[in-house]
Amino acid sequence: MALGVYVSRCGGRVEAALDVGDALDGVASLAAITRIFDDFFDAGVGDAIAADVAACGLDAIVLAGHSEEHYRKSLSANHLIDRIAAAGVNPNRIVAANILEQCALAHPGDRAGATAKARAMIRVAADRAETGDAVQGEVVEPMCSVMILGASAEAFVAAQRLLRLGYSIVLADREDGCARAGRARDMRATAAYVLEHSAATIVDSARLIDGDGFLGDYRLVLESGAGQTTYKVGGILLARPDHPEWVDELRRHFRVDVDDDGFARSLDPAKHPAETVDDGVMVMPLRKEGAQESDKIAAADAAVMALVLKLSHDTVVRYRHTSVVDETLCGGCATCVRTCAFGACYIGDDGFSHVDVRRCVGCGKCVVSCPVGARDILGSPHDHLLRAVREFAQVQTGSDKVIGFLCGGCGYPAADSAAATVEQRGEGYPSSFLPVRIPCGGRLDTLYILEAFKAGFDGVCVYRCRDGHCHNLVGNLDMDRRVNLLRTVLRSRNIDDARLRIVDISPFEGDHFVDTLNEVYATIGGLVNGKGGAQ
Ligand code: SF4
Ligand code: SF4
Repeated sequence: MALGVYVSRCGGRVEAALDVGDALDGVASLAAITRIFDDFFDAGVGDAIAADVAACGLDAIVLAGHSEEHYRKSLSANHLIDRIAAAGVNPNRIVAANILEQCALAHPGDRAGATAKARAMIRVAADRAETGDAVQGEVVEPMCSVMILGASAEAFVAAQRLLRLGYSIVLADREDGCARAGRARDMRATAAYVLEHSAATIVDSARLIDGDGFLGDYRLVLESGAGQTTYKVGGILLARPDHPEWVDELRRHFRVDVDDDGFARSLDPAKHPAETVDDGVMVMPLRKEGAQESDKIAAADAAVMALVLKLSHDTVVRYRHTSVVDETLCGGCATCVRTCAFGACYIGDDGFSHVDVRRCVGCGKCVVSCPVGARDILGSPHDHLLRAVREFAQVQTGSDKVIGFLCGGCGYPAADSAAATVEQRGEGYPSSFLPVRIPCGGRLDTLYILEAFKAGFDGVCVYRCRDGHCHNLVGNLDMDRRVNLLRTVLRSRNIDDARLRIVDISPFEGDHFVDTLNEVYATIGGLVNGKGGAQ
């Protein structure tokens, strides 16, 4: 395996807070090449890395700079990763090490601590890049069709735009919204254009009863007065993010976040107002109180633009982060089938468990539930997570050390958001907090917690989605149950279970992240013993 490790100074912000050379030293003996750039998004960086891939035969890359969440959301980051992938590196082996938000910006006054943490985070990312399963991407020709759920005014504007751009649309409403819009005076022209267009399918009194697929290739089953009909579309636009039944039905099949009111929301309402965790599912930006017609048009345009940017390619490549089954271990007990909330596991005629990759969202619940260890998740493999715990345990901190298991849907983005909190307050949390990203709380094997205490951590903090917010429906509750059961085991080993804390959090709650982490340190600091072994 030839590894390339690249560090971004992020315009000087990383270098101001930590020693980049020292942080890179940790992988000097592992990497075929290491390089430092001023900023990954400067012109020519993608070409330079692509040239290294060709010259050194690189097949695994670490990008140490921004957060993984940033690389997923930013178009500039998408271009960079596309360029590296085009040079021949499987995207499952291009891994981010977040040394900006969670090291440099989180610990501005602690250069030695931030450097040691960055060094460990780069080593952990290198391990994941090298052990990432190079599954071939699935090439899809995106369908030029969009399912729009909810016949709001914005939905008609979006439908009109899409039809004008040559897309076909299916516009579905739960009641008689499509018919009513045709009679309404205020949007008569737009509604008439949509309702009379030959490429528009209109379905009133609809329910979404099934769905699967991914960007460019979704299958949705609607039930209406006419019976059940299956539609194949390239993208989905939830035009009524405030409609509880649409939100509930959509979340049973696709990963859509909700806010405290239960309304569907985007990944980042400020910068990416329509995009959700699922690449091809958009939500209409929420209407503000007293919204004018121009606001509705702007919201519809934002959603259409986001969708068209995704669908207007000849092909898109889907690199799965789904569950996989080791048939040499599987005993066909069907525990995974009962565990999966998305109906993605089934027992085949061969008696073994199989994964429906169109339905699997990669939450990891089946991995944790399998009694014989026959499951794993591409992108978050078991062996890597164990090694990450052990690697972080090696960091010398000189103070209490806490490991965090951060759900990618809430805890990890909250830790990113905490960078802004630290900047505002001028103080943050100890650099001896070391973060392990997991795709969902449901992926957290209690073995990792036991391993952390065994390896010498003073505390373990698990950040999970608030009730009702889990992208994977019940991954947070499932984790909660298992981790709380572990408390008895901890006590039996003379480990004070006050050293283990579960925190509910939302992705934008950086202040809550900092506050709760400092509480954890205060609690641990007050414990006299209880780290296992004889007391
Ligand atoms: S839980 Fe494990 S052993 Fe049982 S069917 Fe699923 S993969 Fe096979
Ligand atoms: S990873 Fe989650 S969605 Fe996929 S098969 Fe396992 S439990 Fe089901």
